[in-house]
Amino acid sequence: MAQTNIPAAPAIEGATHVHSGKVRDLYRIDSGEHAGRLLMVASDRISAFDFVLDSTIPDKGEILTRMSLWWFDQLGDLVPNHIVSTDVPDAVRGRAVVCEPLTMFPVECVARGYLTGSGLIDYRATGEVCGIPLPPGLEDGSRLPSPVFTPATKADLGDHDENVSYDAVGDRVGDEVAARLRELTLAVYRRAEGIARERGIIVADTKLEFGSQGAGIVLADEVLTPDSSRFWPASDWQPGRAQPSYDKQVVRNWLTSPESGWDRSAGERPPALPAQVVDLTRARYVEAFELLTGEKFRAGSR
Ligand code: ATP
Ligand code: MG
Repeated sequence: MAQTNIPAAPAIEGATHVHSGKVRDLYRIDSGEHAGRLLMVASDRISAFDFVLDSTIPDKGEILTRMSLWWFDQLGDLVPNHIVSTDVPDAVRGRAVVCEPLTMFPVECVARGYLTGSGLIDYRATGEVCGIPLPPGLEDGSRLPSPVFTPATKADLGDHDENVSYDAVGDRVGDEVAARLRELTLAVYRRAEGIARERGIIVADTKLEFGSQGAGIVLADEVLTPDSSRFWPASDWQPGRAQPSYDKQVVRNWLTSPESGWDRSAGERPPALPAQVVDLTRARYVEAFELLTGEKFRAGSR
């Protein structure tokens, strides 16, 4: 069980706090035009090695919110999404969205175009990922012959998600919905991978969440941010070793260096990050946003 330390969500007038994850806080809007809808707020919190760090990355919540909105636009012809409005209270402007409350499917819809992480662990043990046989000889970071749908079930806060077979998804949501989730997840991944690759970023894998609204399936949560996906700089891609992560590599390198003094094996909480590690990390998020969208990031410009 990983350790988490999530600060209490700030009160927002006109909204009731309903949930906090490692990075985001969820509220239900009490009254007005959007009464009953959800306010999804992205904080500047950052997690690494399953810890929510004591340091925050300035503007991260805004950068990721804008990136997710940009992606929803790129995907609009493939699947409807839950975004209703970006007109949100001043205290969270730029880093929150109003969204349609959906009945979420209890499945993390993961697509992988490259092998790493839990997919690599499963592959090394069985030659398969989520029951899908893969060719022999693949290494950490190898590109797969074609993207695969590798669903997982959501674990409790602080635990790891568990990879499950496609059939297990069918048992949970019915065969028809399972087929649609797989089809949509792969279509979204293919689109995103192509767009990002042209801009120098490899989207190695991504996790999507869908919900239902009546008979329709709607793309929810955040999409294709570095928090929900693995982004690798395409220029440094080299299968056969761990790939540097676009956003968190500076943090991971510092935390695991002697300089940090962090004894990970003793189960200690990681120390606060030095200012230059925070600055470099912020710069990486800005760079990813600007490369992908072609827009300049200016805080508070939305
Ligand atoms: P973690 O890293 O632990 O996942 P997080 O910061 O991403 O944390 P979550 O705990 O994932 O935060 O909080 C977002 C929650 O909101 C998720 O449970 C997600 O399923 C849910 N959610 C997203 N969009 C909707 C929606 N439109 N309707 C209902 N629930 C939603
Ligand atoms: Mg989440």
